[in-house]
Parts: sequence; structure tokens; C-alpha cells
Amino acid sequence: MDAHMQEQDGYEKTLRPSSLEEYIGQTDLKKNLSVFINAARQRQEALDHVLLYGPPGLGKTTLAYILANEMRGNIKTTSGPSIEKSGDLAAILTTLEPGDVLFIDEIHRLPKQVEEVLYPAMEDYCLDILVGKDSATVHNIRLSLPPFTLVGATTRAGDLSAPLRDRFGIVSQLEYYSLKDLEKIVYRTSCVMDTKIEAQATKEIAMRSRGTPRIANRLFRRVRDFAQVYNDGIISLDVAQDALDRLKVDHLGLDSVDHKYLRGIIERFKGGPVGLEAIASSIGEEPMTLEDVYEPYLLQIGFINRTPRGRVATPKAYEHLKIPVQGSIFE
Ligand code: ADP
Repeated sequence: MDAHMQEQDGYEKTLRPSSLEEYIGQTDLKKNLSVFINAARQRQEALDHVLLYGPPGLGKTTLAYILANEMRGNIKTTSGPSIEKSGDLAAILTTLEPGDVLFIDEIHRLPKQVEEVLYPAMEDYCLDILVGKDSATVHNIRLSLPPFTLVGATTRAGDLSAPLRDRFGIVSQLEYYSLKDLEKIVYRTSCVMDTKIEAQATKEIAMRSRGTPRIANRLFRRVRDFAQVYNDGIISLDVAQDALDRLKVDHLGLDSVDHKYLRGIIERFKGGPVGLEAIASSIGEEPMTLEDVYEPYLLQIGFINRTPRGRVATPKAYEHLKIPVQGSIFE
């Protein structure tokens, strides 16, 4: 893990709300979860398995920790790509206690044979393992597991196999946050970090956070650095605007990669339609990163459309970049 990731990880732990009440926004989702939690607690059962999906940084991991807290259980965390063999998953499953949460991030990346171990674990709380030295002695034994809750998170619900998806009793999508909710998140972060911030500066950071709490917190930390060096640690509107401009985050929260991506479609491919691979290789970015991290927000704000023939930049994107629509399909 590099220094940047360590810093991010450390902050994320301190900033994570620990109860549903403290968790800002996602109101409908919270209301439903609160009913399911109360019902499971009254019945003294484990909460049904939960699948959370949505773009990175919207609070899926945070919710998994909250679910464990609210159910008074412990949480074990892992991720799809880090479980290579069925045995790795079996080793984790056998350490679970009744009522624990097992959180699997990027669950769409679980290898198929590992996924199959999950089916009986989710459905019947049991683990099938093969024992024996050779084909003559090999046989299946079934171990029972304590009742637990699997919380799976994914940025790509569509990539999950149907049998796995069907085994989740609760499937919820996280939405981008409203400006008001992001303001609350920035304000909460300023309180946790004991930093003075003007209301207008809170709004400015929220506006440039592309609907995402993780980005709001990251921008907050960088703005706080500028405030410390230039303004006695107080985050004023001027400091916030200046810092965010210097970080090349524009007033809609688009950064240099968004700009490169949109300019790429417009200037190299006449505004599209262009396939993801072609645009990614022309600007030197990973197709998966563009698809998971950048495109969902650009789609949400109506700057691109996805068509069967590829991505198209919309007139709104041209306007934002101050490029005339001449020569594009909109002319
Ligand atoms: P994901 O798992 O979806 O990528 P995380 O749960 O890691 O996102 O959230 C990233 C950071 O954003 C967390 O450290 C947390 O501080 C903050 N955060 C996320 N959702 C909320 C929320 N609803 N209220 C307050 N802070 C949040």
C-alpha cells in the first residue's frame, strides 16, 4: 500500500459514521434497512444478506460496518480479487461467530469456483468440503456455519452472476448525494477534524465533489492544507475556491481526467459515437477506470450518452468546455 492509500485509509476510518443515524443521505435506503434490522433483531436472527451497488466512494463499505454495529456483531472484510481459492473463503467462513457480518468488496470479481462455496453458505449456513487423498476415498463433508450476514459491494451489479445475485434478500442501489447532503458531510468532516470552515466554503467543496462523499472528504483535506498555510487554518470561501482551482477541479467537480476524456471524444472522434476501448487508448487511461469511476457521473449530469454504437458527448459537454458544436453529430 502506498503512502497516499495509507493516508486515505486512516482518514476514512476516522471519518466513517458508525450508526445509521449518523449516516447522511440515502434516506429511502436507510429507512428500509432500519426496518430490516429491527425485524431481524426482534426475531433474534441474522440480518438477511445484503447487496449494495453503486459507483465507488458512495458509502458501501461504511454501510457494511454500520450494519455490523447495528446488529451488534463483528465484521470480517475481504474482497473478490483477494480470494483466489475456495479454501481461502472457507478459512474466513469458519471464523465467523453468530450474527457477524462478512463484507466482500468488489464481489463481482470472485472466481467462479469460490462463488460456488458461497451458495450453500448463504442459503443454508453450511460449507461443503471435499476430503480424501484420491478418487477412491474422496468424499464430501458438510460443516455447519453460524447464522451470519453477507454484505456484498459492487460497482457493477450487471457483472454478478444470476445465482449469486438471487441469493441476496436485500439488494440496494446507492445514489449520488445531493448538494445539501454533501454539505452536511463536509461540515461533519470539519467538526471531526476540528477545523473552522465558512458556510460558503462548505458549499463550494460540496459542489465540486461530484456527488461523492469520498471525494468531498479528499477535497476537504487538500483545502485544509491550503488554509493551514495561507489562512491560519480557517477555510474561507476564497481559500476553498483558490485551492480547488489549483487542484484543477472545476466548478462542477470535473477533474483533469474528465476533461481529457470529454476533449478526447469531441476533438479526436468528432463527439462520438466512439467505443470505450478506443477512447481509453487514445487518452492513455484504463477502460475499466473510465467505466467505473468517471463515466457514471458524466452520464448522471448529462454530459455523455451511451448508445449501441459507443459514447457520445452531448451539447452540454461542448458548452461546458466552451467548444462550438460545429462538425459534431448535433450540428
Ligand atoms: P465505498 O465503499 O462505496 O467505495 P466508503 O464506504 O469507503 O465508499 O466511503 C468513503 C468515505 O466517504 C468514508 O470514509 C466515509 O467517511 C464517507 N462517507 C460515505 N458515505 C457517507 C455518509 N452517508 N455520511 C457520511 N460520510 C460518508
